[in-house]
Amino acid sequence: MKKFNTKKARVMIVEDNHVNAVYLKKVLCNLGYHIYHTSETGDDSIQYLKESFPDMPDIILMDIMFPGVMDGIDAAEYIMTNYNIPVIYLTSYSQDQILDRAKKTVPYGYVLKPFQKHEIKATIEIALYKHQVNIQLQKEKEEKEQLILRLKRLNDDLKHFIHGVSHDLHEPIRTIVCFSELLKNHLNDNQDKEIDFFINLIINSASRIKSFMNSVLSYTILNTTEKEFEWVETKDIFDHAVNNLNCMIRETQASIQYSLPMPKLYGDKNQLIQVFQNLISNSIKYCSQQQPEIKINVNESDTEWQVSFQDNGIGIENKYFDKIFLMFKRIHSKEEYPGDGLGLSICKRIIEFHHGRIWLTSEPGVGTTFYFTINKDLLKNNN
Ligand code: ADP
Repeated sequence: MKKFNTKKARVMIVEDNHVNAVYLKKVLCNLGYHIYHTSETGDDSIQYLKESFPDMPDIILMDIMFPGVMDGIDAAEYIMTNYNIPVIYLTSYSQDQILDRAKKTVPYGYVLKPFQKHEIKATIEIALYKHQVNIQLQKEKEEKEQLILRLKRLNDDLKHFIHGVSHDLHEPIRTIVCFSELLKNHLNDNQDKEIDFFINLIINSASRIKSFMNSVLSYTILNTTEKEFEWVETKDIFDHAVNNLNCMIRETQASIQYSLPMPKLYGDKNQLIQVFQNLISNSIKYCSQQQPEIKINVNESDTEWQVSFQDNGIGIENKYFDKIFLMFKRIHSKEEYPGDGLGLSICKRIIEFHHGRIWLTSEPGVGTTFYFTINKDLLKNNN
């Protein structure tokens, strides 16, 4: 913690009793403080501060009861709100009602009359220290807010940039694929195998760029506000994901089973469909068996839902367990298994947005089980 300097503070006294004020001045001077000014009422003190601004005292010792429109509590509230100067109440009144009103202004201290020299010193020193800590905390809070704002702006810029790039690339890539196919048909009459090979290479590369841009885009534009959260049937999420993967499932004859009951989940439906879809499609893709077999399980505890996807695929070595969730991290070449290395990082991002965790267990050659959780806190927070 930063060391604060509380020496030679300038103290303002607001006290209508002349004897008390003189005594206080003497005590404060003996203790090494400077007297900034002495006012007799709350109204006077505010007027003085207005006229002296920006030359302000470090701390104010404020009596509570005095004549005028404002009593000491009203004046302290005004001063702390408008000038952020710490105020200590000086009073012979200790009734609950006054204490309650004083407490609401969150003062820096409360000293009962008749004052004790050492009590005044201790209260002033603690108040000054507390005030400097508060200023420091406020400064840090503002800096943090500024930083968050800057990061948000940068993030928005990045999103716009990626959105723009992928949008602008979409059309030329479509043109490349389209005209390469036309060219292929046109040249097919020549039966030139080499030309056919080259054109296929162009089409595949362009398609890969397109799929890559789509994956990057879907990672970037992931919604991260909880506005879209709702109760969703797990079966509904499952049906959507399976429907989107219809072709792949039919081609591979994959068997996908789920165990009942499937409880409702609370989250962003489209994002959860995307997680189901990515995990199911990976289970099918990374499988060397005749028939991919996937088993989905949903368990519920008081604090979270846990969903698991077990497959009979090629498995993953232990050393890759963390790495595969990183962006663009792939274990296999694109020739062996196509992909952009973004599916699991999208899943991780979505699950973390649902205050959950994602992990796996796996045995190479036997299969992999991916697990994720969704925290029920989100439900409590949103209700
Ligand atoms: P992609 O599939 O596009 O490469 P992912 O982020 O979905 O990207 O997966 C990252 C890597 O994790 C994959 O390249 C693959 O090696 C491995 N992987 C993911 N799911 C499985 C699975 N069910 N079985 C075996 N390996 C997997």
